[in-house]
Amino acid sequence: MTVGIVGAGQLGRMLALAGYPLGLDFLFLDPARDAPAGRVAPVLHGAFTDPKLLGRLARACEVLTFDWENISVEALRAHAASAHGARICPPIPALAAAQDRVAEKRLFGRLGIPTTRWRAVGSRSQLERALREIGVPGVLKTRRMGYDGKGQVRVRRPEDAHRGWEQLGQMPLLYEEWVPFDCEVSIIGARSARGETAIYPLNGNVHSHGILRLTRAPYGPPPWQRAAARHLERCLTHFRYVGVLTIEFFVRAGKLIANEMAPRVHNSGHWTIEGCATSQFENHLRAILGLPLGSTRPTGFSAMVNLIGEIPPRGELLEREGLHLHDYGKQPRPGRKVGHCTFVEPTAARRDRRARGLLAELAPGLRIP
Ligand code: AMP
Repeated sequence: MTVGIVGAGQLGRMLALAGYPLGLDFLFLDPARDAPAGRVAPVLHGAFTDPKLLGRLARACEVLTFDWENISVEALRAHAASAHGARICPPIPALAAAQDRVAEKRLFGRLGIPTTRWRAVGSRSQLERALREIGVPGVLKTRRMGYDGKGQVRVRRPEDAHRGWEQLGQMPLLYEEWVPFDCEVSIIGARSARGETAIYPLNGNVHSHGILRLTRAPYGPPPWQRAAARHLERCLTHFRYVGVLTIEFFVRAGKLIANEMAPRVHNSGHWTIEGCATSQFENHLRAILGLPLGSTRPTGFSAMVNLIGEIPPRGELLEREGLHLHDYGKQPRPGRKVGHCTFVEPTAARRDRRARGLLAELAPGLRIP
């Protein structure tokens, strides 16, 4: 049985590595010759939108999924309508909502999931109105194609917003209130076609320059877990979702405020490979193939540290007892996620101590709540 994956990044690579023990094969589509999944599975090389390649991928596969959300909804829709369409999971409407920050915020609003105060900004006059109504501090974000903090300008004074408007290319934007959050968390869960759901323990996330640096899980008190799971279940039900879905939140005075969602496996869930009975990657595959979902029971208290820019000397990392290294095989480049490492400890205190120790070396000065 072959699974087709649009996008051959590290998420796709980890999906394939989780699928081999289940007897699955994989075929990817990606424009990059050196895409990380290419080391472990065949790749059709070409544009994500190429109808011929999408057709070839679909004919070769039982089911089609994707490993990042900035792929063309139109190309997928056209493909879904064509005669040889393999099933596409997660559902295209969830992908479309996640691609547009305004659609995403409206969806959260309709489902009763709290968000920051926000306004869509398509012109200078709308920008001025948004500044009047929301005030400063805030942040201007491109509606589309933003990830890892890209396409964002912080607004401390109104002048910053006008500079941001010029800088972001005067494309459709969103202006939102800056949240002086206490911490950031995310929740990941899977839903199968039969409507069965499996929700993971909450992730506590620390970002640096907009890029995830540390995830600890399980994290936070039970009411946070319950609130996040309730919000996630609402989205899963709304879309009759099939696959893994992630929602990221700010936490302010004990309240969860949704920031964004990702209709895919997520960086904040990498710890589930070693830290859970069933990883997010395996559960995504189980869900999209109509198999029973696996347990999300944690095996301890996990920490996942992203390796950014370059992989530190392997020997020094692996000297640390129980550390699991994942090297994505990428060329080093400043700001690029090139790998991650995970460890699982019997207590939260031990986990936090180890995470602080490792990050003091890798990212000195990073504030860890
Ligand atoms: P995003 O691309 O929206 O996930 O933003 C990347 C990171 O920037 C978030 O994880 C936060 O650390 C920070 N950030 C984004 N929007 C806000 C906001 N409205 N208030 C505070 N921090 C934010």
